[in-house]
Amino acid sequence: MAEIQLRNINKRWGSFVGVDNFDLTIADQEFLVLLGPSGCGKTTTMRMIAGLEDATDGDIIIDGKRVNDLDPKDRDVAMVFQSYGLYPHLDVYENIRFPLKVRKADPSTHDERVRRASAMVELDEFLHRKPAELSGGQRQRVALARAIVREPNVFLMDEPLSNLDAKLRVSTRAQIKNLSHELKVTTVYVTHDQIEAMTLADRVVVMKQGKVQQVGTPTEIYDNPANTFVASFIGSPAMNLMDGAMSGGTFTGDKVKISGINAPDGPVTMGFRAEDAALAEADGQITAPIYTIELLGDATMLTVRAGGQLVSVKAHKEFRAEIGDTVSFSIPAEICHAFDSTSGERLG
Ligand code: ATP
Repeated sequence: MAEIQLRNINKRWGSFVGVDNFDLTIADQEFLVLLGPSGCGKTTTMRMIAGLEDATDGDIIIDGKRVNDLDPKDRDVAMVFQSYGLYPHLDVYENIRFPLKVRKADPSTHDERVRRASAMVELDEFLHRKPAELSGGQRQRVALARAIVREPNVFLMDEPLSNLDAKLRVSTRAQIKNLSHELKVTTVYVTHDQIEAMTLADRVVVMKQGKVQQVGTPTEIYDNPANTFVASFIGSPAMNLMDGAMSGGTFTGDKVKISGINAPDGPVTMGFRAEDAALAEADGQITAPIYTIELLGDATMLTVRAGGQLVSVKAHKEFRAEIGDTVSFSIPAEICHAFDSTSGERLG
């Protein structure tokens, strides 16, 4: 069992607040992803769980025990960093074995444990190579094996894929997801990449400037973003957001009118996702010239210039047009998300 409770955790340096009142229970065996832009406090939150950073206040409870005053080595957590942290003079076998020696694990178990961990990340053939003789992806797998070999209760991973190329990132991502499932380890994973977050997480915590913006499953966060920050951070392309005003159930923005919206009269920010709008023959809510066309393979992404604003719409993969051609598309009221135009908070 490794439930992690973070009770009103704060991290301040002088008057600067790095993490502001983080309060969450991470379930045993959950895969939790901390997601947000650079500087939002994700790494600091994870380092406080690891014990590499003291919380200014709040309680960190792992497996029912308050660990604030425990050294990192006594917390039963294993960390994997983007920089791998391998010892260059040791070969792969000895790198993976290292935590067992430090922890004085029974030497008669070392060989079996190292071989089991290395097999899990498919490194069996490379056990006698030095880190310098490995590719970036192989080095990252050594770092993973070194975390696995300890059989910890908690994995903490800080952007472990960011040094890998796009293809390797996808395959290593799948491997991490599978390992965490197989090993039944509670995992806290830090990234600024929303696709990584969406594909790996049981739940995602979206952070901004030290504050939690929303906690939810990837689907909840995608379908019901709590505010315009989350709406524009999750999804590729980001949700279209248009400023305008509500009056009697009708939204009026620059070059757009949508009826049947359930939001109070007054200024509002209206959002919709590119894939929810539908190209129409004519007379859609937006009729505008194409600004750019991107062929994605399984679809065609159009960006149109609607008044002063660029809006994304997903079209069928066989859709063909030229930049400058005019298209029309419909935005049904039921696919719209209304946000308070001042606070950015979701309405209704
Ligand atoms: P990134 O994705 O760039 O790693 P992050 O979300 O992980 O960003 P943190 O590293 O947690 O962000 O940093 C949060 C904020 O705290 C940043 O504004 C950072 O500059 C600040 N910070 C981090 N460490 C210190 C420190 N030792 N002293 C003062 N401020 C710090």
